[in-house]
Amino acid sequence: MEEFIVTIDGPAGSGKSTIAKIIAKKYKFTYLDTGAMYRMIALYALENNIDLEDKIAIKNMLDNTKLDIVENKFFLNGKDVSEEIRTPKVSAVVSPVAAIKEVRVKLVDLQREISKGKKTILDGRDIGTVVFPNADVKIYLVASPEERANRRLKEYKEKGVEADYESVLASIKERDFIDSTREESPLMKAEDAHEIDSSIMSIEEVVEEISKYIDKKIGA
Ligand code: C5P
Repeated sequence: MEEFIVTIDGPAGSGKSTIAKIIAKKYKFTYLDTGAMYRMIALYALENNIDLEDKIAIKNMLDNTKLDIVENKFFLNGKDVSEEIRTPKVSAVVSPVAAIKEVRVKLVDLQREISKGKKTILDGRDIGTVVFPNADVKIYLVASPEERANRRLKEYKEKGVEADYESVLASIKERDFIDSTREESPLMKAEDAHEIDSSIMSIEEVVEEISKYIDKKIGA
């Protein structure tokens, strides 16, 4: 099977992973959640008190972290951290960690390696701009910060994670700011990406619109 790449970029909580999972199932694509990869490194940094200013410590950290993804479960050095990486404490440190060039180089390589020769849908911040600039279909998914905060809060509540609206909204806005103003691969819309606003559409409508772009490309 030839390689076919669909990218979904956008800010935190715009619905990327929900949509990407549905599309992956529908078209039998591999789904790669690249945010989870940054979250695993952030969790390691947090647990090991890594000084993010210390280049040697960063290099050692990257040499000492083995990331495995098996059936959408995330393993950091052999330990399943799928739940842990979604907690607010990891969300609070992930953006500064993801702004480090060396971290990005390692993860972008891994993302390309995992997707090689496959039909893959990836979600993240720089997938259509940096990781796969020649992707077959590029989507830029947005939603208002308030809508995104409400969705995150609902997710936390369902998982029994304690959080309140104001701090979730503040955390989302802060991540948006760091992610879109950083020097390395900032969050931005690729010129040839289709922008979709999920605050005014249902999940089904978003899936339908993306499916149209995919079907057109594969000639279905
Ligand atoms: O998608 P998610 O919200 O889980 O991503 C967590 C964080 O990882 C983002 O806020 C961003 O800092 C970083 N990230 C990134 N590049 C990607 C995916 C995520 O910098 N491709």
